[in-house]
This record gives sequence, C-alpha cells and structure tokens, in this order.
Amino acid sequence: MNDPHRKTREQAHSVQDLLRELFPETHRELFGERTSDAPPTLGLYPVADGRLALVHGDQLAEFTPIEPKGRNALHCDLCHYTRSRSEAALYRVVVAARRTRYVTLCTPTGPCQGRAGERGLMALADRIFPIEPIGPDER
Ligand SMILES: [Zn+2]
Repeated sequence: MNDPHRKTREQAHSVQDLLRELFPETHRELFGERTSDAPPTLGLYPVADGRLALVHGDQLAEFTPIEPKGRNALHCDLCHYTRSRSEAALYRVVVAARRTRYVTLCTPTGPCQGRAGERGLMALADRIFPIEPIGPDER
C-alpha cells in the first residue's frame, strides 16, 4: 500500500493506456510501435540520404527519392492528399530485377502515416511487397 514506486508504475501504465486510446499517434511517437500483442511492424522509416524504408514484418523495401518531372502538384499515394512540390517527393522502389515502382509521398512522413493509418500503410505494402531478390549483376 505504501510502496511509492509501485503506485508510480501503475499510474504511468494507465496514462500510457489512455494515451494509446486517445492519441495513438503520440503514443507511437513516445513508446514505439512494438507492444507484446502488436501485429508485425508496419511503417515507413526515414533512413540515410532522404531515403525511406518501408518495413512490414521481416520485409523491407527501400524508397529512393528522385526528381519529379514537370511542375504539377503531387498526389500522395499513402494519405491521398494533394501536396505542393515542397511538401512531397517522388520515390523509386526497385521491386524486382528491371521492375520499378514509383510512389509519391509527403515528405513529413509521420503526419502522413497518421492520416493514412494502418489501412493505408497496408495498401501501400500490398503494392510493394513481395520484393523479388535481385542478383548482383541484375541491378
Ligand atoms: Zn501523404
């Protein structure tokens, strides 16, 4: 009863639960995606040189930014917002030998993934995966 540590722990736990229910995005930012009963990891993660990694379970695809042609507004393939050229980027994803997909995504990927939600990310993952292994001389 008088154990202050225990009380703090319980309080922290319930605050975390509340946060997860009310503000799932903030919860993800603070505590990460992985909880014991969570489905396989699914998300876009910024990596080096402006590239993004799409991770779904043990699958991984690399999104490489390329210069979009023309001057039109861009349409995000994940959250489906129309973005100006400074707010989105065109990415190239090599999914198999000599097979490439092009994906437009908002550059601030966090809020974009928040808008798209798990479903949007699933749809994107379905377009990209599975990636066929590419031999060393096929690149
Ligand atoms: Zn977006």
